[in-house]
Amino acid sequence: MSLIDALHFDNAFIRELPGDESGKMHSRQTPNVCWASALPTPVSLPRLLVYAPEVAALLGLQAQDVSADAFAQVFAGNALLPGMVPYAMRYGGHQFGNWAGQLGDGRAISLGETVNARGERWELQLKGAGLTPYSRRADGRAVLRSSLREFLCSEAMFHLGVPTTRALSLIATGDVVLRDMLYDGNPQHEPGAVVCRVAPSFIRFGSFEILAAHGELELLKRLLNFTLATHFSHLSGDASHRFGTWFREVCERTAYLVVEWMRVGFVHGVMNTDNMSILGLTLDYGPYGWIEDFDPGWTPNTTDAEMRRYCYGDQTNVARWNLQRLAQALASIAPAQSLLDEGLAHFDASLQQGMQRMLAGKFGLGDWQEGDAELIANIFQLMQQSEVDMTEFFRCLAQLDTRAVQVEVLASAFYSEAQFNQQRAHFAAWLTRYVQRLGASDNEARTARMNQVNPRFVLRNYLAQQAIEAAQQGDLNLVYRLLEAARTPYADHHPVELIAKRPDWARHKAGASMLSCSS
Ligand code: AMP
Ligand code: MG
Repeated sequence: MSLIDALHFDNAFIRELPGDESGKMHSRQTPNVCWASALPTPVSLPRLLVYAPEVAALLGLQAQDVSADAFAQVFAGNALLPGMVPYAMRYGGHQFGNWAGQLGDGRAISLGETVNARGERWELQLKGAGLTPYSRRADGRAVLRSSLREFLCSEAMFHLGVPTTRALSLIATGDVVLRDMLYDGNPQHEPGAVVCRVAPSFIRFGSFEILAAHGELELLKRLLNFTLATHFSHLSGDASHRFGTWFREVCERTAYLVVEWMRVGFVHGVMNTDNMSILGLTLDYGPYGWIEDFDPGWTPNTTDAEMRRYCYGDQTNVARWNLQRLAQALASIAPAQSLLDEGLAHFDASLQQGMQRMLAGKFGLGDWQEGDAELIANIFQLMQQSEVDMTEFFRCLAQLDTRAVQVEVLASAFYSEAQFNQQRAHFAAWLTRYVQRLGASDNEARTARMNQVNPRFVLRNYLAQQAIEAAQQGDLNLVYRLLEAARTPYADHHPVELIAKRPDWARHKAGASMLSCSS
């Protein structure tokens, strides 16, 4: 079997919905369509850096398909397979709280939707494959640094059990891209790369918003019906019932998504409505980051350093705000406003339940009881005051022997020994309350349970940065090792250097503790 035989295309999105098929690539508004044709712009010297065998397998690709030269050509955008009809999606969005008008895929080009042997639909999308009608003043390209971050993190999130788009491949283009990484007026040439992202669909909240904003209501209905038929075919009933259950499900999935982010300590960094998947997937990995020292106010995104709109602790609120924007966009075609209101109310209920379930799991509490909120708020406050590493803390807490409570079990979660010594009495007091709450619990069973929801390995910000710096020198070893570790994030066996807390040098380093949107 070759690459050509393995992939079967069924390009439903462009078949069912109108597009601008002019093939013209100049930046422009494209009214009354959901997409525009956009051929990838070839690159100089495509070279496969890394791929995800699990994603290849999902698509029905074998190792030999991936190692063939044709693979790097196709997934860098230099060649098309039969059945591929490349396009860029039109969407708008609210960015940092303001309506931004038409955005669209400015550097993402979908190659087509494959249907695998199990009948699953997987859309293939190149990120960084060149100009589209939505590129505005930008270049349609992506640098290795941000592409590597997207590749590694989306796979890491998948293995953590968090809903996400996937990544098939990361390909170096052999071309350079000019970027002002620190926005300080010093643009540098950086190596370019193309990631092939994979998801059932890349439809966003903003795909609906743009049509409502422009009064294209017939098309809005068509997009809704397409989404229902293609991606929510399990919903049945009359039009009104289907609409209601669909919006409710979007709200529920979005609640689940942010609860999962909170569980693993992920901060998306740019929760604009154009980056919100209608399927409830983590979408568009940019200046994301992982909580290291616990701080709900932390954001990795330097553009958001002042406002902190998208900080860790506010992600749940922002998710709701984004759903309200979606509801607003749908209002003119909703069978009844009450269906939207009920969906949003369902978000609130799902979020509350989800957070309780998630926190009860993280702390090994079993069920959620009266008083747990206070107990947890208390330790979170202590953690924040004392610079305690979130990931390390929960693995330490899981080790606690409730018959012989020793605060030393938490010591390695502190960034400074002095802090630990200063705060130990407070933590010891909290542990006493915690053990009371646990009651007679089987230590071993609790450890095992907690270790299933509290990762040992997360893609720490400084590790991704080290992998990037090595990759830029041509050394992919750390990339491979991180991808390998990401496959079993809850296991204990990881090499110490892949689970170590952030070292001091990374505390304020660009790329390791703060990221710009430049990518
Ligand atoms: P993001 O902040 O990555 O979600 O991007 C917001 C919008 O800017 C989207 O429409 C992107 O497609 C577009 N965009 C970001 N970077 C580029 C680029 N290098 N070339 C073209 N469009 C871009
Ligand atoms: Mg985006």
